[in-house]
Amino acid sequence: NSQLIKRTFSSIPHDQDGVEGNPVRVLQWNVLSQALGQNNDRFDNCPLEALEWKHRRCHMLEEILRHNPDIICLQEVDHFDFLSRALATQSYSGLFVPKPDSPCVYINDNNGPDGCAIFYKNDKFDLLEKHDKVLQVWTVHSNQVSLLLVLKDKNTQKELCVSTTHLKARKGALLSTLRNEQGKDLLQFISSHAADRPTIICGDFNAEPTEPVYSTMCSCSYFPLESAYKLSGSEPLYTSWKIRGGEGEVMHTIDYMFYTKHKLTVSNILDMPKEIDIGVNRVPSMTYPSDHFSLISDFYFNNNTTNFC
Ligand code: NDP
Ligand code: CA
Repeated sequence: NSQLIKRTFSSIPHDQDGVEGNPVRVLQWNVLSQALGQNNDRFDNCPLEALEWKHRRCHMLEEILRHNPDIICLQEVDHFDFLSRALATQSYSGLFVPKPDSPCVYINDNNGPDGCAIFYKNDKFDLLEKHDKVLQVWTVHSNQVSLLLVLKDKNTQKELCVSTTHLKARKGALLSTLRNEQGKDLLQFISSHAADRPTIICGDFNAEPTEPVYSTMCSCSYFPLESAYKLSGSEPLYTSWKIRGGEGEVMHTIDYMFYTKHKLTVSNILDMPKEIDIGVNRVPSMTYPSDHFSLISDFYFNNNTTNFC
């Protein structure tokens, strides 16, 4: 019997003749770093017990595994070894890239830097390539990273490029410009490795859909990208909903799954939890281990092999 907030899927109408094979289920989630969540974020409305690692790690694993994803893209991972060992028992392999100067390492009793991780089912995919990059802003290194894997489906031999990132946080015009520059560098990095492959770009972009980086992603000149959750009509009202001391309540959409729409088709998305199930103290809570909700999409390969020019 799960204690976690209930989640349901919505199916997305699509042309079934245009797709082939079985869908690939991808999960995107900012898991909330243990060091930051417990010491930095000021989640004053969250019971202390809910922020303890011994509690959170169980709920984190349950949230990751309960819908059986084929690929898992995570941010704010500061317990990669734990996740790696736990997920290995369920046939996942994973790779991790830390932030160059993670805020976690300045916290007492930290568990190392946080960063981005991707796990994939090793009975379903072979790993062909792994690349990572410190994102640049006007050619200067920032503190944000991206991780990219090229995977090959063992059954169909189809190749898929999956990448994840966690863009610079905080509000302000300059930071929004900075995120946009990171987005441009991210797209250049991905395009240099994705070649003509179907591509999925997951992340905590720390930007609402009104920010320039969202438009940059959706008007990418290297390949046509669509945001998976927008297919339900519009982006969700929230992917993160928290109450912070000093700051108050924050409810916004900043996490996305972009994909090459000429190569892939979305058939299902995992809905955001309902407000009544989230509760008045929002998240993290005793029933959810992060201030961000996970996103899941099922992607079919399109059967048209026309290349985008
Ligand atoms: P970011 O601004 O990208 O944020 C780092 C983390 O803080 C993110 O995981 C983010 O979570 C979280 N965060 C966002 N808003 C808040 C908030 N209002 N309160 C608490 N946490 C929040 O940081 P950078 O990676 O660019 O690293 C710079 C930061 O690292 C500095 O802001 C500084 O705090 C810290 N640092 C500290 C040092 C020191 O103590 N000596 C030295 C160097 C760095 P999310 O993405 O979910 O919003
Ligand atoms: Ca955070």
